[in-house]
Formats: sequence, C-alpha cells, structure tokens
Amino acid sequence: MCTHCAMCCDGTKFAYVNVSPDEAPALAADFAISDDGGEPSFPQPCHYSVERRCEIYARRPITCRSYRCKTLSELRKELIAPEEARRRVDETLVARRAVSQLLQPGETLPLARKRRNTISSGSAPAVSDLRFMLALTALDLLVDRYFRANGETMFSRKAAGAIED
Ligand code: SF4
Ligand code: SF4
Repeated sequence: MCTHCAMCCDGTKFAYVNVSPDEAPALAADFAISDDGGEPSFPQPCHYSVERRCEIYARRPITCRSYRCKTLSELRKELIAPEEARRRVDETLVARRAVSQLLQPGETLPLARKRRNTISSGSAPAVSDLRFMLALTALDLLVDRYFRANGETMFSRKAAGAIED
C-alpha cells in the first residue's frame, strides 16, 4: 500500500520529519537538517521520495522506519481490509491530483497551505483562488479522515512511532 501512496513523504501529510538528536549528525550529509522546531528535522517533500518509492529505503531514518499513519495502523491491526486501505489511498490521491493542477510553478503542498492562509485572511479572493482553496480543503479533509491519528493536524511533524518490523 505505501508504495502506492507516499503521502507521508511527499508533503501531502507533513511539512517536516523529526529526527532524533542522536541520528541527526549522520543524516546531515543526506538531508537539510534544521533545529527550527526545537527538535532536529528535515523538510518535505523529501527528495528521496521518487515515484512514490523511498530511494534510500534500506537506510531511511528511524522516524520513517517506525512511522504508521492511521490507515496503515488500522490495516496492521486488521481493523480494515487491504481493499479498504487501497480505496482510501486511491480516493485521496484523486484529491491530491486535483490540487496539483492548481499549484503555482514549484509550489509544494506545505507552501500551498501557507498560500491558502494568506488568501483566506485577505479580501475578495478571485474565482481561481476559491477553486484552489476548495480543492486543498477537500484534500485536507480526506487526509484528516484517513491518514491522521487523533491529535495530529496539518501542522504536525512526522514523528517516530513504535517499530513493528
Ligand atoms: S504510512 Fe500511510 S501515509 Fe505513509 S505511505 Fe504508508 S499508507 Fe501512505
Ligand atoms: S527518507 Fe524515505 S521514507 Fe523517509 S521521508 Fe524520505 S522518502 Fe519517505
């Protein structure tokens, strides 16, 4: 399922991936590590996410090894069937593609969310801005529903969970 999705790597779900302070020095050669949030992290979209696959899968950071979104957790616990997990990913990817068509050149989803905030705090948005905001909000509702655990928001960082494999 994850190789069909990658939404926790490409900026759809997160803007940053936390890394442990112990691991940060070794990762600095491969990632733009910063301490902006009080904890070392690197930004998304991750440049190692290529065509929905992790190009450094065997040596990916601990956070990425242990992370489970809501749908993956439910699948592992057999609370949902593989078909339902795949349906959720497919539905969300359709919404993601709709947003992608409305992004500005070079704009990532984390940057698009900042733009949405700017538009919504201004006055009289253009029709194209409204279309963009609606598409992005529809995507965020699906990501909230299927991929964010209780308490996670669009501003949460990808953080380590319990390693299961
Ligand atoms: S953990 Fe969840 S969000 Fe991340 S790639 Fe897998 S299914 Fe997608
Ligand atoms: S290192 Fe791999 S698993 Fe981690 S965010 Fe980047 S592409 Fe995803």
